Amino acid sequence: MAGITPASKIIIVGSGVFGISTALWLARSGYGDVTVLDMQDTASSGYDPLSGVDSASADLNKIIRFSYGSEIEYQRLATEAAKIWDEWNAEIAATPLDELPERLRDGEKKLWFNAGWLRMSSEDEFGTFELETLKNMEREGIREFQFRSDDEADINRAKERGWAHKLDPCRRQERFGTHKAVLDSTAGFVYAYKSCTWAQHLAKKAGVQMILDSVRGKVLDIGSKEGRPVVYTADGSEHSADLVVVAGGGWTPSLVPEVQDLLETTAGSVATVQIPKDRPDLWDRFSAENQPVIAWGTRQGKEVYSIPRDDNGIFKIGWRKTKWTNFEDVGERRISVPRTAHVTEKKETRLPTDALNGIKEYIEINFPELVPLGISSTRLCWYTDSIDNSFVIDFVPGRPGLAVCSGGSGHGFKFLPILGREVVKILQGQGPQTVYGRMWRWRSSTGNGRNGLEEGEQGPRVLSKQTMASETDWKFAN
Ligand SMILES: Cc1cc2nc3c(=O)[nH]c(=O)nc-3n(C[C@H](O)[C@H](O)[C@H](O)COP(=O)(O)OP(=O)(O)OC[C@H]3O[C@@H](n4cnc5c(N)ncnc54)[C@H](O)[C@@H]3O)c2cc1C
Repeated sequence: MAGITPASKIIIVGSGVFGISTALWLARSGYGDVTVLDMQDTASSGYDPLSGVDSASADLNKIIRFSYGSEIEYQRLATEAAKIWDEWNAEIAATPLDELPERLRDGEKKLWFNAGWLRMSSEDEFGTFELETLKNMEREGIREFQFRSDDEADINRAKERGWAHKLDPCRRQERFGTHKAVLDSTAGFVYAYKSCTWAQHLAKKAGVQMILDSVRGKVLDIGSKEGRPVVYTADGSEHSADLVVVAGGGWTPSLVPEVQDLLETTAGSVATVQIPKDRPDLWDRFSAENQPVIAWGTRQGKEVYSIPRDDNGIFKIGWRKTKWTNFEDVGERRISVPRTAHVTEKKETRLPTDALNGIKEYIEINFPELVPLGISSTRLCWYTDSIDNSFVIDFVPGRPGLAVCSGGSGHGFKFLPILGREVVKILQGQGPQTVYGRMWRWRSSTGNGRNGLEEGEQGPRVLSKQTMASETDWKFAN
């Protein structure tokens, strides 16, 4: 569909990263009638998962990296996003406290932290993927920002630039006699809840309307009348529009049945360890000043990452080896849908034992000093995976005025400041002429390698087939 005009009525379903970035860029591009609907009050909860809000975007923190291996288009977009992350940090620092959204007033007035990202091998040697990544970086001219832990020239460069103390935060060389890792000094993390709150604040300032409410904002169905899309909400209202963009994260396949061969809802496993303030040794070691983001054993069968502690001492660890599915009846379909701590009818805060054990193994091997503390909380965080891990942003075939904006596939957060710029072009009908429009187009694949989508409910990743860990498993065996 081509031809939205500045006067077009546009409804966006979902106020996560994909919805809010789209709303912000639409408003800033001159579209004056943009409304975001969400069934969760992301404004007053400030996207804080401890305030009872559940989505991929509503999280404590997320990893921000600008190196993307051979995926040059994502790397370029991430590099452009980096400039805006810096600008947002500067803007927030310059804004008087009483003019900031409430969630941004506590702690450091900053969203993004260039803490570095250490890709740490779980074996005695580097995996082939890591070596290929370094070669790609050489070609792209960004190798100088990467420091290999076993390369003298790299170590010296890391010393000169103040990064050497982050090369071996787990003291692996001293404890195991070997340590193979690469520190990416361009990367780091953002506070996710603060970042979304800031983007929502900017969108409101740009004129976007928000209906963030468990009844008035909850979309039950999307139909069509006289060739226009109509959104039906839980309060019985009908919202007719020129364009409806569904950015519903893990709920997208429930709302747009056509997308179910292209997107699947899966869960990642996350746990936290509470670092006590009265342990200055740990408090300092796990701070962003002293510890980088760490990825351990990527493509070596471990797939664990951790992010430095926040102001409240929360140290987050994620396990990505298996992404879980949860099949339920949605109308007459049987599809994977989120099962979260607060918002879904069936609740879940536990992790499968395999995931918890993977996280405990990471701690035991790399941070044995945390063992006496045990795990403090667990959470399933729901992704929307596409068949090829690339986003899906396009009009829905056969549904005039309806578009989807989803498929973050576990790497969408870093694009929060820039994603909407490309979405606007697609919504204006320029998708086929842009690099990202072509990458994120509606597509299909009938092959076997569809990122696990082909498994369906028969597959091994289904949550109901797992043994779930309980709170008693949060302690470590002595
Ligand atoms: C465990 C995990 C770790 C990740 N780590 C990283 C990382 O380190 N770096 C990175 O860049 N990315 C990361 N990501 C990916 C990133 O978080 C996502 O790509 C991004 O947050 C997805 O945003 P979204 O807007 O598509 O979905 P969501 O954030 O899930 O938002 C969807 C919104 O739609 C609303 N909604 C749904 N259905 C309805 C309805 N019927 N009516 C009204 N509203 C509705 C929901 O309430 C929700 O607010 C990670 C994701 C996960 C799960």
